[in-house]
Amino acid sequence: MDSLPVSQKVTVTAIAGDGIGAEVMRATQAVLAAAGAAVTWEDAMAGGEAFRKGISTGTPQETLDSIERTGVVLKGPLETPVGYGEKSANVSLRKIFEMYGNIRPVRELPGIKTPFSGRGIDFTVVRENVEDLYAGIEHMQTPGVAQAVKLISEAGCERIAELACALALAEGRKTVTVATKANILKLTEGLLKTVGERVVKRHPALTHEHMIVDNCAHQMVIRPEQFDICVMTNMNGDILSDLAAGLVGGLGVAPSANLGDTVAMFEAVHGSAPQIAGKGLANPTALLLSAVMMLRHIGDFTTAARIEHALYVTLEEGRDLTGDIAAPGTGVGTAAYLERLIGNLGRTSARVPAREYRPIAMRPWPRSTWARAVATREVVGVDIFLESQATPQALGASLVQAAQGSAFSLKLVSCRGAQVWPVAQPHTFIVDHFRARFMFSAAAPANPNAAIADLLARVGEQHSWMHVEKLQRFDGADAFTKDQGEG
Ligand code: NAP
Repeated sequence: MDSLPVSQKVTVTAIAGDGIGAEVMRATQAVLAAAGAAVTWEDAMAGGEAFRKGISTGTPQETLDSIERTGVVLKGPLETPVGYGEKSANVSLRKIFEMYGNIRPVRELPGIKTPFSGRGIDFTVVRENVEDLYAGIEHMQTPGVAQAVKLISEAGCERIAELACALALAEGRKTVTVATKANILKLTEGLLKTVGERVVKRHPALTHEHMIVDNCAHQMVIRPEQFDICVMTNMNGDILSDLAAGLVGGLGVAPSANLGDTVAMFEAVHGSAPQIAGKGLANPTALLLSAVMMLRHIGDFTTAARIEHALYVTLEEGRDLTGDIAAPGTGVGTAAYLERLIGNLGRTSARVPAREYRPIAMRPWPRSTWARAVATREVVGVDIFLESQATPQALGASLVQAAQGSAFSLKLVSCRGAQVWPVAQPHTFIVDHFRARFMFSAAAPANPNAAIADLLARVGEQHSWMHVEKLQRFDGADAFTKDQGEG
């Protein structure tokens, strides 16, 4: 694949960010310029400086406007200074532009010695980037019990699984491993398991594999060379992609991309490393490798390969490396490393296996409200979450009484998912947060909402409830899980 002609230069929003951000951004831009990358830069600001100016998201409007215009971002690390902002500017950018796919290549680098060197590690973690627990929907349900909502949509699973497949096809890979915790979280993680299998099987060139995510963590350490593409929900992907980075040299050399339908943002995995900021010691490799991913995204495959090879040669020869990756006592500063790297442009490493990259054919998603159609839906009961310091026996008795004369009868009471009424295990530790499961005593009434409101009023006379969840059946299947100990 050839580079773009110079007349087709692509404008990229450059956010240097905080700490070592300016140093690694300058170094990266210098390499791209020396290599003849088809890029012009539009500088923008976000992170610590924006927070200190009173912008609560850490992302000024001019920066958002620039990203809207260019659709491509190269970003340094962003801090959320203590005492400012509720959300990180990184998360805000990913969410504002719906960059739903986080791509983290994990490839052994020549010259970077790790306990895994020589194993040929070469896989990519594809992490869902906007859903799951990281939607950040949290509540203190009682003064001492917190809840986070794990939201997973079928469309979100479809999108990330399709992206994993598109990436696999673009990089000539064979196997897509869908890693989930579906054995425990049957509905949320189970959705990625089911949808992932369906999506991967649509692509005849790819092999589908499912792995329980904790075993995946274990396998990544025991036999990391077995993986090709791994796709995961947000939090699992967050944790395992950092683990994976540790296999090939750590955060200082780990690149990433955040992809959405309209915007792509490329960034190093590491943070602002404030301890070394401004000292000329930072290693720009992770941002440079992120820029290589960016060049492939904009179609400049030749320059991407040219830079990658110059980097490989530099690392292989081991001369003039920054302190974090150099042999003990031989580390140099960013400037000397940069000079060496630029001097190696045009040289080719024979040690790193070649890979044919093609554009990632991302399927565009409709801009309409997504919904899954079902033939039947029914309400069969309700879970009421309430705060109480009563014993489970006393609580159960009072809830039975509260439901008398309503359309419901109490089925069970549980505490953090373990049944404590009508039957309790002697070892269950009790806190002041209970879930009372009520089912309709007879057939569902014509207006289940009114029946639930009536029950809530009755329960509320004696107890403080804070959260209500309808129990539904879609197409005849329970749309809720059972409790530990529930029949
Ligand atoms: P960090 O900035 O990644 O730094 C941890 C340590 O790793 C540094 O002290 C340094 O070790 C080393 N290091 C990281 N990047 C390096 C590089 N390019 N060259 C050489 N050494 C490097 O992690 P942190 O201290 O946890 O986070 C600092 C700030 O960054 C926090 O405000 C955090 O929120 C933010 N952060 C932002 C992002 C992002 O924007 N995507 C990601 C992570 C963290 P030595 O001190 O041993 O030299």
